[in-house]
Amino acid sequence: MVTLRGTVASPGIAFGQAVVYLPRDLSATGVKSRGKDQETARLGEAIERALGELSALTEKVKSEASVELAHIFRSQQTIVEDDSIRGEMNAEIAATGCSAEAAVEKIFGQYHAMFEELGEKDYNRARIADLEDVRRRLMRKLLGVEEVDLSHLEPATIVVAPDLLPSDTAVMDRANVCGMITETGGITSHTAILAKTLGIPAAVSVAGASQQIAVHEEVILDSSSPEGARIYVNPDSQTRYRLSELSRRREERISLLAAETRKEPVTPDGHRMILSANIGAPEDLDTASEHGVTSVGLFRTEFLFMKSARLPTEEVQYDAYRAVCNRLSGGMVVIRTLDAGGDKAIPSLALPREANPFLGYRALRVSLDNREMFKTQLRAALRASAGADVRIMFPMVCGLEDWRRAHAVLEEARGELAERRQPFNERLQVGVMVEIPSAVFMADELAAEVDFMSIGTNDLTQYLLAADRMNEHVSAYYRPFHPAVIRAIHRVVEAAHRRGKWVGVCGELAGMPLAIPVLMGMGVDELSMSPRSLPEVRHVILGTKYSQAQSLAQNVLTIKDTDALEAEIRRNFAKE
Ligand code: PEP
Ligand code: MG
Repeated sequence: MVTLRGTVASPGIAFGQAVVYLPRDLSATGVKSRGKDQETARLGEAIERALGELSALTEKVKSEASVELAHIFRSQQTIVEDDSIRGEMNAEIAATGCSAEAAVEKIFGQYHAMFEELGEKDYNRARIADLEDVRRRLMRKLLGVEEVDLSHLEPATIVVAPDLLPSDTAVMDRANVCGMITETGGITSHTAILAKTLGIPAAVSVAGASQQIAVHEEVILDSSSPEGARIYVNPDSQTRYRLSELSRRREERISLLAAETRKEPVTPDGHRMILSANIGAPEDLDTASEHGVTSVGLFRTEFLFMKSARLPTEEVQYDAYRAVCNRLSGGMVVIRTLDAGGDKAIPSLALPREANPFLGYRALRVSLDNREMFKTQLRAALRASAGADVRIMFPMVCGLEDWRRAHAVLEEARGELAERRQPFNERLQVGVMVEIPSAVFMADELAAEVDFMSIGTNDLTQYLLAADRMNEHVSAYYRPFHPAVIRAIHRVVEAAHRRGKWVGVCGELAGMPLAIPVLMGMGVDELSMSPRSLPEVRHVILGTKYSQAQSLAQNVLTIKDTDALEAEIRRNFAKE
């Protein structure tokens, strides 16, 4: 038995037989040019045929109700139609007389390198996959090559591949795929999106998978633990038994949690919590509504800005914000203004490379310097608030100056809309994220002026403990249950409540079942989390008495040692 490890892209446990999918190498090497005119014409023809295929694919997946895939193929169409890419390929042929294949290879190679430069983020990887998919499609057309497709599979197949591109996944024989394993890709890769849409387990970043697994071998893919995926090749009977048991218990838990989806998040002694979703795009609401959530506590708008080489216009932003409001029919939508910088590269902003990006030019600091861009976003958010419960939130606020400067820009945006006679909600709530330690110490003063506060524990933890959230070398120092983090949250909650304002938590801590009793006990009003965490969190709320959560919080706030504090939280959790 061989065991491999990887990252969970879609949760679950799959038992099946492997199909190893190795796409052909499509390169321009050895292709002779037939002269500038002919090559330009061949390229034009290949582009037209690729566009035809992509629109057919978009329609196919749309009719299968796969919104995400339809979106992917639409964005690939824009790559093919993109005047600059097309122009650059034609210019390459004109300048060097090379073959259309060589022009495709060169120009797509340059774009690939540009996205690589932007960093190892999931979003960039997804763009690279789109570019690669389009490149392969154009090359297939030019070289006249058809590739093996995945449209006919045996029942219970686990597809293993170095990488799966959107067009591979679109033609895949979905009825018979029960798992996917790829060597590359991140948790927002296309493989992950498709697997989640189909509700089948998937693992990505599994080094050596296509070499270590052979066709028809028995494979068990265990993606049931968020800590990481395990892949057992030719499992022994003990492993097979252990995993079948695990799978059975998992199914039981899923049905238990599914039965609670429509229950209000109220504790047995009547304390009501607000559960909201963290989203990056309107599509993320699919999972959120499946899990019975009706509000958004954090709309990370930077994803709109990462999508294109240009800044999104007011209309593009308005459409996205409005789409979220429409789908929630009246529920709260907290739009967080752009949080550029740090780990989030925005192609259109060309932010400087910095030695300490998390302590650098980030979020509100960038928005305040780019006033027109900031105002454009605020106008779009304000317009979306007409007849809807939109709230605006500023990220990375250090203290009163930041808040007041941001608020002044918002006032200008309001004035401009009033002049244009465009409607918006005059009483819209405006709040701040508390994610910088200085804001914790200024929480009283901030609470006096804002409408609400939401605690960003991801950043707050890294800044309080001076432990970079992205750096595995200091991950042992990144302790969300450090007494300083817990006390900081408590301090903010007290400050907000003294002024009669509501307070939420929208960092990852809000989606950790273990943290729920203590957050609730300290008085946090709202928990906003990744939609997938909702069922477990709701389950904890339904089973925890508020009075017990309050005594836990009181007790925990006296503990001075991190290990002891975490142990107390775990002990209490096990008791529930
Ligand atoms: C946070 O810092 O906790 C937060 C929610 O914001 P982000 O993760 O987007 O920085
Ligand atoms: Mg943050």
